[in-house]
Amino acid sequence: MTNLSLLLEHDRDYVWHPYSAMGTKLPVYPVKSAHGVRIKLTDGRELIDGMSSWWSAIHGYNNPRINQAVKDQLQDMSHIMFGGLTHQPAVDLAVQLVELTPEPLKTVFFVDSGSVSVEVAMKMALQYWHAKNRPAKNKFLSIRQGYHGDTFGAMSVSDPINGMHSLFADTLVQQFFADAPNCGFEQSCTEADISPICAQLQNNHQYIAAIILEPIVQGAGGMRFYSPEYLQQIRKLCDQYDVLLILDEIATGFGRTGKLFACEHASINPDILCLGKALTGGYMTLAATLTSYKVAQTISTGEPGLFMHGPTFMANPLACSTGLASLKLLLQSPWQDRIKQIERCLKAGLEPCRNFNLVKDVRVLGAIGVVELHRPVNMQLIQPQFIEAGVWIRPFNNLIYLMPPYIITTDELTILTNAVTTIISNIQE
Ligand SMILES: *Cc1c(COP(=O)(O)O)cnc(C)c1O
Repeated sequence: MTNLSLLLEHDRDYVWHPYSAMGTKLPVYPVKSAHGVRIKLTDGRELIDGMSSWWSAIHGYNNPRINQAVKDQLQDMSHIMFGGLTHQPAVDLAVQLVELTPEPLKTVFFVDSGSVSVEVAMKMALQYWHAKNRPAKNKFLSIRQGYHGDTFGAMSVSDPINGMHSLFADTLVQQFFADAPNCGFEQSCTEADISPICAQLQNNHQYIAAIILEPIVQGAGGMRFYSPEYLQQIRKLCDQYDVLLILDEIATGFGRTGKLFACEHASINPDILCLGKALTGGYMTLAATLTSYKVAQTISTGEPGLFMHGPTFMANPLACSTGLASLKLLLQSPWQDRIKQIERCLKAGLEPCRNFNLVKDVRVLGAIGVVELHRPVNMQLIQPQFIEAGVWIRPFNNLIYLMPPYIITTDELTILTNAVTTIISNIQE
């Protein structure tokens, strides 16, 4: 048996993949290496990356400057506990994040994944109201079609249907939900868009610690874009009803939508902000929860006087070093121009998809291009076709979408959009 077939056999027999079943016939493709926007499969084929490894690899793979930062940090230490000890990479990254994010955010809590940064944000909101002696404010309000992660707190505020709340009904905390707005990014937010969440606040604000939302782009829950005006209204409502605002920028942060952070489209500030995914340029798992002095001091001076969280690998030095190198690379690059250029190419390249009956909508914002179909795609059929076309595109449900690394060239982008158009026209027949 060849090494490759043994690898595949062992993978099939012993290894879970994300949202998968063991013993599935769906193909997985062994990767040998990845450089720039190219993923090299073990069988020698090369694919152009349209996914940035789920929003994270914004500089592509194997960047020499980030590689060097990892090597340098390895010489000093790969990890050290963060209880009672500190180090330069964590402090430098925290200072930089505070400088880059909206004004009121002043403190940084490092964690090891996006889901956990959402758990931490939710705990912060709960401890804030506990410290203010309003313990009844212990629920969260969110909008449908949201996604905030796979841990229990994060699941409880994610879309009830996508998040399979019925399956976990006995375990998940019941939160409040409102319908998501229907206004697209360039549209105005109408009364009909805002009234569902407004009604929830009116009726239940005394039980609500915070609203949690993905700003502007709802990612894994449906790849929907909504109007900055909606976000502005939400900020006003939060102030009016004494509710904190948690923005989950795990997917949108670090330039993806054309602004460094998506909340900048609406010029509003959250009380708590979650960052992850692109934070290390896709090199290592690291996330962060930022909050204002107001929230931090209330938690720290109230009962019990401590914030009750502390992961083993908190502020891992290797991860913080890659975060610093990735941010430096991003900020020194003409990233705004690159995102604008990617946006133009995605718009032009995906536009022809509108002509297919199978296609419900085509939408593009920044470096995100989405083709929404009327029905779910058959992954067993479509995934090999993308591989055949030399691209890595991973649809989910009825969504075929692109979010390439920012370093992608126009020609490479055209290969991606052509693959999408051709393959949709094939399944159309
Ligand atoms: C991916 C994602 C998460 C979860 O992050 P993990 O690192 O997968 O735990 C949370 N919120 C949003 C908006 C995400 O896109």
